[in-house]
Amino acid sequence: MPKYSQTHLDPRQPLVVDTTKLPRQPGATRTLKRVVPAPADLGLELISVPEGSDLELDLSMTSVSEGVYVSGRIRGSLSGECGRCLNEIDDSFDVAFAELYAYEDSTTEETTDVDEVGRMQGELIDLEPAVRDAVVLTLPANPLCRPDCPGLCPECGVHFDDLPADHSHEVADPRWAALRNLTNNKE
Ligand SMILES: [Zn+2]
Ligand SMILES: [Zn+2]
Repeated sequence: MPKYSQTHLDPRQPLVVDTTKLPRQPGATRTLKRVVPAPADLGLELISVPEGSDLELDLSMTSVSEGVYVSGRIRGSLSGECGRCLNEIDDSFDVAFAELYAYEDSTTEETTDVDEVGRMQGELIDLEPAVRDAVVLTLPANPLCRPDCPGLCPECGVHFDDLPADHSHEVADPRWAALRNLTNNKE
């Protein structure tokens, strides 16, 4: 396991939060509402949050004895492709967010794994890894343009919505139809 990255956080980064104004007194709370540009590659192969689109953080920070608890909701837009018919999908999401960040050198930091409890760097918190997890976990691996999307005809590639209900390729070739008639006549 590589050691937890100690690169210094840049407080100007959109998903880095400065807790200087939050008193280190259990129960103290501050709201954290901001709209930030979505980072790159936030999503899955077929559906993702467009880079630079509005990511709305509707969060609150609460001091706990060993760190800061950040919770609330994250909202934003999604764009992607239907897994059945490849039509464009424009959607939005609204996910719950809850994450504890331990103070540097706190007992929590010393006794937990970085995967279990987030870390603060001084007064700063990098929300990005947890925001990624929260958003990506709610995305469908196989997104659909609508729940009952019938998809494309495997024979001709036309959307079933654009085809008559009795669409079929079984007797597409008239010569086969003629042959079938011939066989029937013999019996
Ligand atoms: Zn579809
Ligand atoms: Zn067809």
